[in-house]
Amino acid sequence: MATSVHPFERLGLGRVINAAGKMTYLGGSALSPTVAAAMAEAGRRYVDMAQLQRAAGRAIARLTGAEDATVTSCAASGLVAALAACLTGTDVGKIRRLPDTDGLERREVVLQKGHSVDFGMEIVQLVRMTGAIPVEVGSVNRTRPDQMASALGPRTAAVLHVVSHHAQQESMLDLRAVAHLAQARGIPVVVDAAAEVDLRAHLAAGATLVVYSGQKAVGAPTSGFVAGKASLVEACRLQELGICRPMKVGKEAIAGLLQALEEYVAAGEAALPQLLERRARHLAGALSETLAGAGLPHARVDIVSDETRPIPRVRLTIEPGHSPVDARALVRQLEAGNPSIRTRNHHVDSGIVLFDVRTLEDEQIDTVVQRVVDALSGKEPS
Ligand SMILES: *Cc1c(COP(=O)(O)O)cnc(C)c1O
Repeated sequence: MATSVHPFERLGLGRVINAAGKMTYLGGSALSPTVAAAMAEAGRRYVDMAQLQRAAGRAIARLTGAEDATVTSCAASGLVAALAACLTGTDVGKIRRLPDTDGLERREVVLQKGHSVDFGMEIVQLVRMTGAIPVEVGSVNRTRPDQMASALGPRTAAVLHVVSHHAQQESMLDLRAVAHLAQARGIPVVVDAAAEVDLRAHLAAGATLVVYSGQKAVGAPTSGFVAGKASLVEACRLQELGICRPMKVGKEAIAGLLQALEEYVAAGEAALPQLLERRARHLAGALSETLAGAGLPHARVDIVSDETRPIPRVRLTIEPGHSPVDARALVRQLEAGNPSIRTRNHHVDSGIVLFDVRTLEDEQIDTVVQRVVDALSGKEPS
């Protein structure tokens, strides 16, 4: 081995304990040794990239129940490829012209207003990158079927449907309803399922193409894939002749994604859900016991599930006014210490801090508990 010093330490970076989840800004996933080894082995050889992409696509198609699939550099680039494919089909002349969509009859991408999310960038900008025109339907908190139906017409290239905790959950049209309306008009439905855990459900519910991140639920290196209808997947691959060339994926990520997908599917069928439940109970038990022992009864602990996915999380609720350290200050202290502890902070203004146990290691739980209790007891961070 070239060096025993970790590359992040050579750059002077401290350790991060991740209780936030599989976040792109924290590096996605920590790879299993077997996934890391698959990447290293792939990196040591030449390969015909077109053949590798097709073979990988066939393997992913088998795992997802799709006709075909293709690997991308991340979910965002997969969405660009999928929407571009809906604009151009396999017409290379059109592919080479994007993002110029002048003269294309179908250049609108319809999405529900409650799906117009910001996942780190605004999804409508991603639509515009292809040259398509985003058309938002309904209101931020409700879409009616007739609003969707009347937005779909001869100018519609695709419907973009987002399945995510980022999207509005209540009173939106679900995928089945959207697919029903779109299919009746011959319009493809592209599903953004970047962080979702079920690799088959969205195709089964009527998605024409579905897009996932590799580095989120699946535990792969930074990567993504598009799965679904064969002719549109072929059109996705062809986008590398045009706007997807700057987003291409390397052989190492393709090999890592395939290895991770195999492990993910095997673990999902075996023990992963039980492992997460057990770890969540371990953290919740240790945290509430230590808080009680430290005389902090105004911080409550329970276990909740994600809005769209069966992911257990430990919820710490700090009643305002009872503690000198509120939820926001707690998050700041956890982040500022060494190691830096990152939490899930979507509800911090309501006094709630969430701990995602998928990314925690069992050996890190004691450190997390101690640092939370120290911070809430008013001890200075170490
Ligand atoms: C994370 C995310 C993306 C982007 O995924 P990347 O793989 O980071 O490109 C897109 N949409 C949603 C809903 C996400 O959560």
